[in-house]
Amino acid sequence: MALTKEITCHQAVALVSNYLDGALSWRDRRRLEHHLADCDACSAYLDQMRVTIALSGLVSPDDLSAKALTDLMDVFEKYQRDQTD
Ligand SMILES: [Zn+2]
Repeated sequence: MALTKEITCHQAVALVSNYLDGALSWRDRRRLEHHLADCDACSAYLDQMRVTIALSGLVSPDDLSAKALTDLMDVFEKYQRDQTD
C-alpha cells in the first residue's frame, strides 16, 4: 500500500534541481526520495548535481578562461534545451 505513486527515472531527473532548491512539494519530495532509495543511477545523478552546484559556487566567472566559460554556457544551454524537450 504505497502512499506515493512510483515515478520513472526521467521524472526523477526532472525533479532533482527543484529538489536541491527545496522547491518541491512534500509529495514530490517523498516520491523522489523513494525513487532515489532504489535507483543507483538517479542517486549518482543527484550526487553529480550536488558537486556541480558546490563547485559552481566556488568559481567566479573572472576565474574562468574564455574557453572554459564558453564550454560551460554550452553545457547550460544544452541542459535547458533537454529540460524543455
Ligand atoms: Zn532512477
